Amino acid sequence: MSCNEQITVTSPLLPPLEEFIPYLQDIWSRKWITNNGYYHQALEKALCEYLGVEYISVFTNGTLPLITALQALRITGEVITTPYSFVATTHSLWWNGIKPVFVDVDPSTGNLDPNKIEAAITPKTTAIMPVHVYGNPCDTEAIQAIADKYGLRVIYDAAHAFGVRVNGESVLKAGDISTLSFHATKTYNTIEGGALVCHDAKTKQRIDYLKNFGFAGETEVVAPGINSKMDEVRAAYGLLNLRHVDSAIEARRKVDTMYREGLADVEGISMFEHRPDVTYNYSYFPIFIDAEKYGMTRDELYFKMREHDVLGRRYFYPLISEFSTYRGLPSAGKNNLPVATSMAAEVICLPMHHDLSDKDIQCVIKIIKK
Ligand SMILES: *Cc1c(COP(=O)(O)O)cnc(C)c1O
Repeated sequence: MSCNEQITVTSPLLPPLEEFIPYLQDIWSRKWITNNGYYHQALEKALCEYLGVEYISVFTNGTLPLITALQALRITGEVITTPYSFVATTHSLWWNGIKPVFVDVDPSTGNLDPNKIEAAITPKTTAIMPVHVYGNPCDTEAIQAIADKYGLRVIYDAAHAFGVRVNGESVLKAGDISTLSFHATKTYNTIEGGALVCHDAKTKQRIDYLKNFGFAGETEVVAPGINSKMDEVRAAYGLLNLRHVDSAIEARRKVDTMYREGLADVEGISMFEHRPDVTYNYSYFPIFIDAEKYGMTRDELYFKMREHDVLGRRYFYPLISEFSTYRGLPSAGKNNLPVATSMAAEVICLPMHHDLSDKDIQCVIKIIKK
């Protein structure tokens, strides 16, 4: 009982090629291919409007805005973060010489558990770096209350949260800075790309210096910046893809609904519940396998799916705290992270993208139902 063709976990949202050609012709005629060009500026403006935020800087990928955010806010010492994410979250701390302090997650969202943050704060703590994992919004109010109480900064890794809103407000408005990834595998992509959202013009100015070697004019360098400017070709591609992302999210919403209906009564399979006040982007569809009730372990199901050419992914397994780089940290122990540890052991992200057919989805459901 294999599906007709291989079903991958994601598929890049590619704009129609013929629609992209005029953009390329325009770039060629302008002869301005990077360094804050026409499309770079147009994309920043369009993203502000689309996302409902005031200040955004686009980047070459989603990792450099994290690294740059920490530089911009001069974060040092220790930062509290989640082990249940993609490695880049913690790597950004390491690249700034900051010690990551892992705190466990909330089983209802997979996000940093605010109730466990205070116990991890030390005199060296300067910031909190949560992740809106799978696009599930963090408890931003509880996190901000802790940050205010202890004088900490908050930088959200919002790589999964493109377009996510709570009560109609962008989740990117929370904290001091939020960062996005526009990698090919994400809901919205610029092939490689990313962005940083901040809340005032001065910070945006500093970020724009930092992403261009620290240049503040022709002969003045104000900080040891990096080069992470987005080029015109990808900015134009991004501008065009923005016109297609809503229908892609709508297609993902339908996939989400079909999975939920198809898997609702499968013993031992659970999934996150949707909150009525949240506008989701349906970036991932994680399921959690209770081996005893389901009668098969997560890995057994994962490999069975692969045998049928259905390529789910074990996001996020292993936990970041289990990689050799980080497992020696005092906060990396399993006893400190029981919820994250069990989620990492039980999760499979099912194929989720705009291009799945009803037949594909039914096929995935059938394999899981046995
Ligand atoms: C994808 C991702 C990143 C990194 O983004 P890139 O664009 O690949 O550099 C960072 N954090 C999380 C949670 C991600 O999923």
